[in-house]
Amino acid sequence: MKNGIAYIRVSKARANMITQDTQLEKIEQYCSLHDIELLSTYMDLDFSGRSTNRPDFQKLFYDIENDNIDVDYLLVYKLDRFARSVNDFHEYMDILDKHDINFVSITQHFDTSTPMGRLVRNILVDFAQFESEMVGERVRDNMLQNAQNGVWNGGPVPLGFSLNEDEKGPNIIPNGRAKDIIKFYNWYLESDGTIRNNSMRANKQRIPSSTGSVWNPNQMSRILKNPIYCIADKESIKYFEDQGFEVLNKQANDGKRGFIRYNRRKPTGTTSVVRDKSKWLIAVAEHEGIVPSELYIKAQKKRDKRKNKPVRAGTGKSLLAWLTKCSKCGRAMTYSYSYSKLADGTKKRYNYYKCRGKQQQGTITCEGQTVKAEQLEKVVLNKLHSLCNDNDFLNGSRGKINSLSEHINQLKEQRKEINSKINQLISEEENLINTLKRSNSERLLVIIEEKVEELNKSRLELEAQLEEIQTQLLDYEAEEYNKQIILSHLRDFNNSFDSMSFEEKREFLQSVINKIIYNEGDVKLELFFS
Ligand SMILES: [Zn+2]
Repeated sequence: MKNGIAYIRVSKARANMITQDTQLEKIEQYCSLHDIELLSTYMDLDFSGRSTNRPDFQKLFYDIENDNIDVDYLLVYKLDRFARSVNDFHEYMDILDKHDINFVSITQHFDTSTPMGRLVRNILVDFAQFESEMVGERVRDNMLQNAQNGVWNGGPVPLGFSLNEDEKGPNIIPNGRAKDIIKFYNWYLESDGTIRNNSMRANKQRIPSSTGSVWNPNQMSRILKNPIYCIADKESIKYFEDQGFEVLNKQANDGKRGFIRYNRRKPTGTTSVVRDKSKWLIAVAEHEGIVPSELYIKAQKKRDKRKNKPVRAGTGKSLLAWLTKCSKCGRAMTYSYSYSKLADGTKKRYNYYKCRGKQQQGTITCEGQTVKAEQLEKVVLNKLHSLCNDNDFLNGSRGKINSLSEHINQLKEQRKEINSKINQLISEEENLINTLKRSNSERLLVIIEEKVEELNKSRLELEAQLEEIQTQLLDYEAEEYNKQIILSHLRDFNNSFDSMSFEEKREFLQSVINKIIYNEGDVKLELFFS
């Protein structure tokens, strides 16, 4: 009897997915029919639909290449569970060939242990590629069709909405968490409202994020931007048109619906990039909106202002906006640029950060200083790099989190003690009252009443203390959470920073750096850890 292993991949994001159970069942049937003993199964559940992470797939090939498994067959349900491109397929097939493992795609009836199977395999792979391109086209057509009608086009359901189980009506409906969304917009518009403060505040109040865990600035940023929440009316439609969007399905506007944004991301291989804005489409949606247009537009304007404030129109962007402070006067050093003419007559652009104290208030407040942007950015990133590799720093940070945790435990201990004291007082009171019931003496009555009052007073004091501890606990726990997030960000820094988009880089830096103090060539980094 021959033996085999199965690889199963389920993409949760697809509407017509075939469950892992079905796939396994079919593979088992195939095995029993062909006298193959199924030794084990590797399985990836892909929730993003992008299938960039296939840990079990990688493990499978690790095991094959290291001869951890010795089998005759690798079985999959369908080719597209296994490979995503011709190159992909050939690469893995070579490895299988090298280890004498035959490949079977059970629903496509081919088995590479036969010459015919090998031929079919090559043809199939080419067709799979062709098909995936065709499907891509179809999806795009479909999406445009949906856009005309404002139908939400699938994927993870945004926070604040639930899938509508009802066949009729829109496919998503606002749920109980819609009030959180409105809250976030209002917070953001407060004078100290920033994306970062919003996420910290949400964590402090224990409002779970879209993924059910703690908030990070990226998630918060998406919530504050997504037109799906904005109620469509004359003002918001005009706002989007002014922004250069084409707004579809305008005739459906009834002052209640939200918007749908289409065509925003362009798939490129395994990842996707944000498309050029002019290609974006927005449609008045089928679903009900959540955030009043006025609130939504105000939030967008604040974002734009924050984004552009230190930058003059068309000057490009600064990575360290809002972070750099002048050591002499404490003011923000804003980003700017100038041109200078080189010897050959060409113009060269210089970007720099500059303290404007001098310019605005004269030398009394600050004599002013300037640093080249590239230079400052390089120093800051280098410092961050070495911090992230610095075990003392990492251990120190961990230590800070640990001492927070210790403090939290102490508070919990205190809370426990107070609670038991309160319980003790309550039972004393009860005892006294029971004694009272059994006695007829006037004098005793007075004494007991006094005693009960005294107990009551101490109980109220304890309860006030309990409340105080409770508030402190929330604060400390939120801080512990936030520090843990920052630390995990820092750990990721070396791996992921280079692959981030500009916006992501800036948000990352803003999430870990409190401020950068610049002093005549000397740069001091203050992280959110000190
Ligand atoms: Zn200054």
